[in-house]
Amino acid sequence: MTLDRYRGALVGLAVGDCLGRPYEGQRTVPDSAIDDLLARGFVLPYSDDTAMALALSESILECGGFSGEDMALRFAREWQAEPHRGYGASITSVFESVLTGARWEEAARRQFGGEGSHGNGGAMRVAPVALWAYPDLGETIRLAKETARVTHTHPAGVDGAVMQAVSVHHALNDEFDPSFLIPHFQGVVETDVFRDKLAVLGRCLDRSDDEYAALHLGNWVAAANSVPAALYAFLSGDDYESVIRRAIRLGGDTDTIAAMAGAIAGARWGFDAIPEEWLRIEGLERLIGLADALYDRRSSQTEPVRCSSCAMPAVLVVTVAYEQETRGGRLLAYCLDCRERLAERIRLAIPIEFVNDETFISLYENGYTRSDPETACELVFGEVRRHLIEAVWPYFHQAGS
Ligand SMILES: [Mg+2]
Repeated sequence: MTLDRYRGALVGLAVGDCLGRPYEGQRTVPDSAIDDLLARGFVLPYSDDTAMALALSESILECGGFSGEDMALRFAREWQAEPHRGYGASITSVFESVLTGARWEEAARRQFGGEGSHGNGGAMRVAPVALWAYPDLGETIRLAKETARVTHTHPAGVDGAVMQAVSVHHALNDEFDPSFLIPHFQGVVETDVFRDKLAVLGRCLDRSDDEYAALHLGNWVAAANSVPAALYAFLSGDDYESVIRRAIRLGGDTDTIAAMAGAIAGARWGFDAIPEEWLRIEGLERLIGLADALYDRRSSQTEPVRCSSCAMPAVLVVTVAYEQETRGGRLLAYCLDCRERLAERIRLAIPIEFVNDETFISLYENGYTRSDPETACELVFGEVRRHLIEAVWPYFHQAGS
């Protein structure tokens, strides 16, 4: 996975948002819309779609994953600082509740007489989730649901976020054949309204008639009326530019449909495929910085840990060296050769036990580092990855303190 694709997904989202924003709410949009806009020569401001995608990215990066409380507060503060970004009327009541101390789980659920919102707000901002969780599709779906429910608790609002996040995931994977995607999505979504729309999407792609698609897929703020339209624009396009032009031509909620289509197209064709003259948008540096941070985080998670002595990857050993006074452990990573040399030098006689990731983590969760040194053993792995070290790291700090 290349950094270019990560930048493409985030910047692609924002460019779609910025180019679609001036046409939001129009039933029909002229073919010349984008060129007319660019001819005016100013830096294009983004709307709530990008504002919330930025806040969501910062929240998962800062928290090391999903925290509903942190995310709800970041959304609310972003709105409070810049309320002019075009937020929906209902969502601002969620922000107000959160800022006055309401529990975030309750604030969102109270909307629309307790039904929760089925708007596209969960979907429009969700692309960073796919970047964060890549290449884990199960984690992408789980996180998409969690982040959607911070503001959109209706099952269709959640389905929209799942479908958009999974679309970005598949675009990163170069999987965009409708004969694979549509049946796959049918198994992923949980509401009838989305299942029905997926059947319509197949027909729209066969006809390739944009007016027909806008009419039958919908082009408005309900998730089921806009997420399928964005996927239609993506699957009908040959490159980033044609996807965005089509997404905006569909009319209606143009900024959000183009933002979602833009995130998927950016994940497929990358940042370099976005026309240079379209990059005159507000927040470009912040977006690139966050895409880079998401990329660094993801690749460091799946990278093999290197031997702390010879820096070779390949087979690695995690050594637990017991300290008599604290009964703590020390986490060291070695390849088998270096471990053997070290053991000889310090006359280490602790036996080695081969375990898998799951056993490793559960041992530490059950207080392994505090156990009796007499019965302790070293744990040996093929390919220790960084996320494994991170998972058990807190136990070592506890043990040592
Ligand atoms: Mg917007």
